[in-house]
Amino acid sequence: MSAPRTAITAAVNTALPAARTDLESLVRIPSIWADPTHHEDTRRSASAVAELARQSGAASVEVIAAEGGAPAVLAHWPAEHASAPTMLLYAHHDVQPTGDEKLWTSPPFEPTERNGRLYGRGAADDKAGVLLHLSVLRAFRSLPVGLPVNVTLFIEGEEESGSPTLPALLAQYHERLAADIIVIADSGNPATDVPALTTSLRGLVDCTVEVALLQHPVHSGVYGGPLGDALTTLCRLLATLHNDKGQVAVPGLVHGTARKLPEPHLDEAAFRDEAGVLDGVELLGTGTLAERLWYQPAIAVLGIDAPSVAQVANVLLPTARAAVSLRLAPGDDPARAQRSLTEYLRAHAPWGARVTVTPGTAAAPFELDPVGAVYDLARRTFAEAYGKAAVEIGIGGSIPFIGEFARSFPGAAVLVTGVGDPASRWHGIDESLHLGMFARAVLAEAFLLAELGATRA
Ligand SMILES: [Zn+2]
Repeated sequence: MSAPRTAITAAVNTALPAARTDLESLVRIPSIWADPTHHEDTRRSASAVAELARQSGAASVEVIAAEGGAPAVLAHWPAEHASAPTMLLYAHHDVQPTGDEKLWTSPPFEPTERNGRLYGRGAADDKAGVLLHLSVLRAFRSLPVGLPVNVTLFIEGEEESGSPTLPALLAQYHERLAADIIVIADSGNPATDVPALTTSLRGLVDCTVEVALLQHPVHSGVYGGPLGDALTTLCRLLATLHNDKGQVAVPGLVHGTARKLPEPHLDEAAFRDEAGVLDGVELLGTGTLAERLWYQPAIAVLGIDAPSVAQVANVLLPTARAAVSLRLAPGDDPARAQRSLTEYLRAHAPWGARVTVTPGTAAAPFELDPVGAVYDLARRTFAEAYGKAAVEIGIGGSIPFIGEFARSFPGAAVLVTGVGDPASRWHGIDESLHLGMFARAVLAEAFLLAELGATRA
């Protein structure tokens, strides 16, 4: 027998104040695993998550790590009935660096509420995901019917670093992570009152490209004219990455997708506003916003090594280098895309400049077909909790590990959900969580667990 909706709703509401307090305590820990000076903080963060899991009635809790990897938390809760399906609930407790802390309205590691939103680094991405899952578990713990499904909680500690040791963890703990349904709460919704299932993510390859013209710097007046400088040369090369319409010019990449989604309407004015686009600045590329954001490649130059303006000397620069990031459409292959990008950069440097391309990270894009009973239940329960129909969305960003999970557990249904919304500013200055949406997300996941428990053999 499953609990009635009213009882679940009451239990969720009771669990929310503690979730808020616990989320704030996690946000206060600067778990920036990508920065080695914060490795100890990331360990502290893992211990704090483990302690919260214990307080939430987990039957077993362990902090695990692969060789050289970040600490992750693995915990289990048995269902009331052993024949119930098993769910793996995923989130991550590491966070992005803050950027310039002075630009934050309130300090990034001092959680602060303004206008119904909780501000702080990790408040949305993805410490709210941790508390989302724990709140659902706590809610069922308080109900007489108990937990409707077996739950494995897996809270990763290096997602923002590209999950380098996740394959090792998945291999080592394969049996304990195995599940019928995997819920990955690391994405978001198109609005705070519209639930979404994320069904596609772009992939990513990046590289550094260096151009070299001279053995050493030379006087820009004495030698300038017949000799070019490395920074101009690099800029000309980088300028070839797009055509005049702003489309990616590198050949050999996948554009668009064979599967045509009933895409939700993305409003251009709202998009410009969220992103802070200056008046008069054009958007690049062609096609709908959803096509450009989710199903087409995108390329950006993320940084250049060259002297700062304050420190210039009157010399022609012998070398210059840039970091280039290429987002891949679903269906593309990172290794092939990396080769296309490398060959393109080598072929397009002007004036016979020497080009060295050093490949960086590579992450596969991901696309799932949300067909079947689990997805139908998710759409139904999410609509019930949010009061609006669930939509399918893509994500322009990359979550490499989702593909790893899908490959490791090919029989499992993968649901990609989350607690971000367009105003959350993930990875940016003033990241925040919409607290009303967080409450709806907890309710939605609680309803989903109840329904999945009712489907047991
Ligand atoms: Zn995340």
